[in-house]
Amino acid sequence: MPEVLTVLEPATEAVLEKVPSAGTDEVDEAVARARAALPAWRALAPGARAAQLRALADRVEENLEELALLEARNAGKPLASARSEMGMVVDTFRYYAGMPERLMGDTIPVAGGQAFTVREPLGVVGLIVPWNFPLTIAAWKLGPALAAGNTVVLKPAELTPLTALRFEQLVLEAGIAPGVVNVVAGHGSVAGVRLVEHPDVAKIAFTGSTAVGREIAARAAQTIKRVTLELGGKSANIIFADADLEKAAAAAPWAVFDNAGQDCCARSRLLVEASVADRFLSLLQPHVESFRVGDPLDPGSMMGPLISAKQRERVASFVGDGAPVAFQGSAPIGPGFWFPPTVLCPVDPQARAVREEIFGPVVAVIPFRDEEEAVRLANDTIYGLSGSIWTRDGARALRVARAVETGVLSINSNSSVRVSTPFGGFKQSGYGRELGPHATDAYTETKTIYYATT
Ligand code: NDP
Repeated sequence: MPEVLTVLEPATEAVLEKVPSAGTDEVDEAVARARAALPAWRALAPGARAAQLRALADRVEENLEELALLEARNAGKPLASARSEMGMVVDTFRYYAGMPERLMGDTIPVAGGQAFTVREPLGVVGLIVPWNFPLTIAAWKLGPALAAGNTVVLKPAELTPLTALRFEQLVLEAGIAPGVVNVVAGHGSVAGVRLVEHPDVAKIAFTGSTAVGREIAARAAQTIKRVTLELGGKSANIIFADADLEKAAAAAPWAVFDNAGQDCCARSRLLVEASVADRFLSLLQPHVESFRVGDPLDPGSMMGPLISAKQRERVASFVGDGAPVAFQGSAPIGPGFWFPPTVLCPVDPQARAVREEIFGPVVAVIPFRDEEEAVRLANDTIYGLSGSIWTRDGARALRVARAVETGVLSINSNSSVRVSTPFGGFKQSGYGRELGPHATDAYTETKTIYYATT
């Protein structure tokens, strides 16, 4: 009997679909198809490759509602969020459709001839993605990889393979040749490991936990594969006393409860200037208590369930362990992996809720005395992915933004990710940048050509 992945709907715990599980043979076959498709894809004229990426964006847009529904049900996220994520998938392919004609090099004056550089595709690229934003994070890698002339093998998370499998069909419908995009839905410990070890795979682009990222980097070293890693986070939401406290309190729940907190950019540490901490918490409490948790397909739901029973158990383990509940929202009972929006205070600075990525709708409140302490606390973590600063003092906002060690920082906003701006981490949040105008650099090699003129 071939092995299957039993895909659940987290809001009901019912089986949504069963799909064949890719093992090492299927990964090898996918890599062989990607290798066979490479010469024709990289030889396409830049304008033709751009046109195919635009056609792909159109195909995703035409099927946006179906993809959004599938993502909402499989990942347990509100349908409106899934729609906006699929919109970002469309935008990502349109943005990177502009790149094949902009992969430029330098001309360099040298003695006795002319030197210039060109950007060459890497070859077959392996993409390994998590379950929190399944197709969106895949698109961040697919867009620049394909624009630069690579072919790809995409491994979605075993919990959320459905939109990737549907996407593979849309790629063909868009007129892109078979073998350019290959999806292998299987276990990380089998399909993922094989992709990382495969000698014909030139690069792994990974998003997921820091533990698995570390393992991938070590394994990829055996074949000197290129690796980019977008890993965990423990971002700070820093509220200064001079901020618009009402606005900051209304935004703070979204900074950590969006996508049920299963977001590498989740601001799971709420740093509040001590002089306004009581006032800020009293402003925050009603927003948390009214944060509506429920059926992802109900338009009133602001948050769905967690992805799995295992994830719920993990999130629950952070509560109470040196970090008591100050206040909480409510969540449905019964089937579904529900967890209420939860604010922890006062917290022990060494509590796991302060040190580790929670990846659930739980935030730890930490008071600070002054700007210097705010920066010190914000940087007191192995991670460095995202964060926010709330203040009306522009000079301070820019000082703190430069001092906090993270890849993305937002002032008076929760924003972290845009198609046109680089995204990635400092420290153990990973290396390499996705999105923005330079993402194709991570999917190309620079070649120098020297032409003798004497
Ligand atoms: P993982 O890092 O385990 O999974 C991410 C992807 O890597 C999945 O496709 C997974 O496959 C695959 N994978 C797992 N092990 C290997 C391996 N040895 N070699 C190659 N690929 C592998 O994340 P989890 O889903 O287990 O989540 C655990 C924790 O990780 C979360 O609680 C959160 O803290 C963090 N996380 C962070 C994310 C981020 O965006 N930064 C995203 C997801 C999780 P499969 O799942 O199919 O087995």
